[in-house]
Amino acid sequence: MINGEKKIKQPIRWAMVGGGRGSQIGYIHRSSALRDHNFQLVAGVFDIDPVRGKDFGINIHVDPKRCYQDYQTLFREEAKREDGIQAVSIATPNGTHYEICKAALNANLHVVCEKPLCFTTKEAEELEALSKEKNRIVGITYGYSGHQAIEQARQMIENGDLGEIRIVNMQFAHGFHSEEIEVDNPSTKWRVDPKVVGMSYVLGDVGTHPLYLSEVMLPDMKIRKLLCTRQSFVKNRAPLEDNAYTIMEYDNGAVGTVWSSAVNAGSMHGQKIRVIGSKASIEWWDEQPNQLRYEIQGKPVQILERGMNYLYESALIEDRIGGGHPEGLFEAWSNLYTRFAEAMEAADEGKEYTGIWYPGIEAGVEGVRWVENCVRSANEGAVWVEYQ
Ligand code: NAD
Repeated sequence: MINGEKKIKQPIRWAMVGGGRGSQIGYIHRSSALRDHNFQLVAGVFDIDPVRGKDFGINIHVDPKRCYQDYQTLFREEAKREDGIQAVSIATPNGTHYEICKAALNANLHVVCEKPLCFTTKEAEELEALSKEKNRIVGITYGYSGHQAIEQARQMIENGDLGEIRIVNMQFAHGFHSEEIEVDNPSTKWRVDPKVVGMSYVLGDVGTHPLYLSEVMLPDMKIRKLLCTRQSFVKNRAPLEDNAYTIMEYDNGAVGTVWSSAVNAGSMHGQKIRVIGSKASIEWWDEQPNQLRYEIQGKPVQILERGMNYLYESALIEDRIGGGHPEGLFEAWSNLYTRFAEAMEAADEGKEYTGIWYPGIEAGVEGVRWVENCVRSANEGAVWVEYQ
């Protein structure tokens, strides 16, 4: 049970880069980091526009002297202070993640980085090596993975409740960009600009979310090869895709699919993972995060509800309120931020982190690797490629 009592000795002095006024994702970072008293927001560069960023910082009670004009100044000036920052979250558009993350690690800071970590596997592996060399934590905000149903699913699969795993069926297929809304929407405009977003739009923007859920639930299953086809239904988005299908073969003979889309007209998130075993299947949708469907062949469907005693113990330790009360995305993110904080404290104390799993740098690397492989397959004419 989480009730706000401290999990670490001292709140971590923390800053944000990006996530300012009008940003989509800034508030959930702050809300989740601050909720359980694990972090203290003491500095930031909240906006690409320094004047607006400072004004925003002041409005969320950050010392105006610690609202900096750019991330280089933030890292340099904070390093001079005895009470300087210990960690930073990066919530800027994709094209900046690599350089900001690298600079943060070089400044000996722990990092929470938005996905995608960067654009190429080579860059991602470089960041991974740097984080290890510096003994710094890099958490990646695959926020949906913090829902308790995901841990329940992971535990059920590990315990053999589904039998041998045969099929993983995933999708994140929303309809919000069925039309060319980027013309008037800055948050969407950069998402379809290869200079800012890299080689892919929906594969990286949404497909990597259910992919990470599958990595959590099926840690031993590795992709052997894949085939991807991608389309730009809104023509101006080419060469970036607004729809893609990926088929994967795993090394144990299982198969998987991911449908990534922003043009699934009428759909809200449409994010699902269904894992099918030889005895039973489970299915989870992110718009009903408190419920996990459990379907045993030949038996009536069971809906497993968050917070109930019939769940595995590890799926109950992050309960904030009893079953029946809906928990949501903010709680899921808060769970991850708590795990990040505990991992950061362990690293600082030279101890091994023994808490629950979290999306770390290897999750960031894997997301980038998957996108790269998908794009290679699609660009070669939707052919099977060996997973590299
Ligand atoms: P956005 O365009 O809405 O906001 C970006 C913010 O970053 C703005 O406040 C902007 O002023 C600021 N910014 C840009 N460059 C900056 C710089 N160099 N220094 C400081 N601030 C800078 O973008 P968004 O939708 O919030 O997305 C931001 C990141 O979060 C992206 O990488 C995106 O993929 C990711 N994201 C993740 C999730 C998730 O579920 N984990 C959801 C949405 C977005």
